[in-house]
Amino acid sequence: MIDLHVHSIFSDGTNTPAELIEMAATHGLSAVAITDHDTMGGIVPLLEAAEGTSVEAVPGIELSAECERGTMHILGYFIDHTCETLKKKVDTVRKGREARNREILKKLNKLGYVIMWSDIEDQAGADVVGRPHFAEALVVRGHVKSRKAAFDLLLAKGRPAYVERYRFTARECIELIREAGGIAVLAHPATIYMPDDQLKGLVKGLAECGLGGIEAYYAEHHPENIVRFSKWAKEMGLICTGGTDYHGGNTPDLKLGTGFGQLRVPDEALAQLKAAVAS
Ligand code: AMP
Ligand code: FE
Ligand code: FE
Ligand code: ZN
Repeated sequence: MIDLHVHSIFSDGTNTPAELIEMAATHGLSAVAITDHDTMGGIVPLLEAAEGTSVEAVPGIELSAECERGTMHILGYFIDHTCETLKKKVDTVRKGREARNREILKKLNKLGYVIMWSDIEDQAGADVVGRPHFAEALVVRGHVKSRKAAFDLLLAKGRPAYVERYRFTARECIELIREAGGIAVLAHPATIYMPDDQLKGLVKGLAECGLGGIEAYYAEHHPENIVRFSKWAKEMGLICTGGTDYHGGNTPDLKLGTGFGQLRVPDEALAQLKAAVAS
């Protein structure tokens, strides 16, 4: 069993990389990939924690791409975490996040919610501060009942405290990942929120730009979607990968490796990714 989509305290997860390795070993996982949003900060700690254990640590990152309606995320596996170009680009994205965070705070205050930057900082982990930290801070302050309510009421796209942030195009994400020696995979394709034929066309276009895989196995994917995306992968010569998108306490119902209990990511996904980056 493997899990190729996991977040740590370096972005919006609540576990340290060392805790993730320990949990992976307990759950009987043979490999776990760290895929924090816009940061490579957790990669070295994960690799170090995995040394001498039964768990293989896979370096990764999750980048957000421009997307009209829904959410498009591109995963990068086996990227060189010392790549200067990638580091610089990711820094640009993080600067964009800082500006955006200030705007979100302003909007919340204007809407009458008493909340300060220190409240957000209290929730943040090591590197990247994002909307999940705002959501938790709003819960702690008693403004909303749950993180989900915070998104539904305020923070989700189209809600009153939402603010856009700087993103690369999907093509730029793919090129960047490849430049850093990695392989690019389209994360949770269902969140792109497009009619089937349009989505398929989009994936085809990305495959032509160098996309290497598609995350068919995903905790929140309906079984029909697993079948649909696996079929596309076969047709387009893409690798079928998968993971839970585990965020620790920020996804309390989700288990590392199995998601809501049903997920089984085929072990060969990892072997195929490795073969692709080696060639
Ligand atoms: P950000 O990168 O700051 O825009 O935050 C995006 C992250 O917020 C995602 O990766 C999820 O972890 C979380 N998120 C986005 N939308 C929702 C939602 N509707 N409910 C709960 N969490 C969400
Ligand atoms: Fe997240
Ligand atoms: Fe994602
Ligand atoms: Zn994720």
